[in-house]
Amino acid sequence: MLKKNRLRIAMQKSGRLSYDSKKLLLNCGIKIDLDQKKLISFSENMPIDIIRVRDDDIPGLVMHQIVDLGIVGGNVLQEKILSRDCTKSKKFYKLLLNLDFGICRLSLACHKSSEYENLQSLKNFTIATSYPFILKKYLNKRNINFKSFTLKGSVEIAPRLGLSDMICDLVSTGATLEENNLKEVHVIYQSNAQIISRKGEISDLKKELIHKLITRIQGVIQARESKYIMLHAPISKLNQVMSLLNGIENPTISKLVGNPKKVVLHMVSKENIFWETMERLKKLGATSILVLPIEKMME
Ligand code: ATP
Ligand code: ZN
Repeated sequence: MLKKNRLRIAMQKSGRLSYDSKKLLLNCGIKIDLDQKKLISFSENMPIDIIRVRDDDIPGLVMHQIVDLGIVGGNVLQEKILSRDCTKSKKFYKLLLNLDFGICRLSLACHKSSEYENLQSLKNFTIATSYPFILKKYLNKRNINFKSFTLKGSVEIAPRLGLSDMICDLVSTGATLEENNLKEVHVIYQSNAQIISRKGEISDLKKELIHKLITRIQGVIQARESKYIMLHAPISKLNQVMSLLNGIENPTISKLVGNPKKVVLHMVSKENIFWETMERLKKLGATSILVLPIEKMME
């Protein structure tokens, strides 16, 4: 039985967001068994219950205050908002945080051999999509006449079936389009996963827990994006070395035993360090360059 005083979080049961959502919650220190295919799981160490549903149901569960938080793609949320037309009236949710996964875009695509010029050339086209409301808003704003055909899945086969001239679908690598002889011609909406919360009365205890969770999530995301750097740098090139590393704070610099011309530098870099940066550091005379992952971080 679900208890009112426990924080309820909805996430996708199985699909493209489920692995990353699960990893994020576990990295925040929530002890919970999400491996079994249960629809509701209870945390052992925090008053948190995880509800696993289809991603399309998550905005509704948050908006109807059935769950406190939801992890959902911006695309699904936006479609839901437009379909309820709650932009005109009340907003039934609060965006708490943009996440670093579920990155994709909603794009128009047509057959590779089509001579697509620009949006204005799309006169009375039929476009198949699972996102009719986002598409309509985008094209209406630009005064483009079109007909949409809604398909819940396998949108990419619509042109081959003679159902539509174009499609408007989610793209990340473009591999699915390529397999179906389609080309991406225009991006309509950029998306990523988001954490949203419900509106309405919420106990102080839950508020505190949400705040704690969001702080931890920010820490997890920042740790994923950051690296711990250790290297030996020539004192004469120290400024140039530091300018290559985007530090969160100033570095720690200490003596290198037996070499008065070099120092040891330790620093947390705000971004990943690529091979190119390491090669530039080496050219400046840096040695023993180590780039280490960070597990947790709190600024
Ligand atoms: P469900 O069974 O939960 O309804 P689904 O089939 O509607 O799942 P998925 O394909 O698992 O949804 O995608 C879930 C979300 O992942 C998308 O709404 C989007 O936010 C994100 N996503 C990231 N990359 C892609 C991609 N290349 N194609 C589709 N969705 C993507
Ligand atoms: Zn879905």
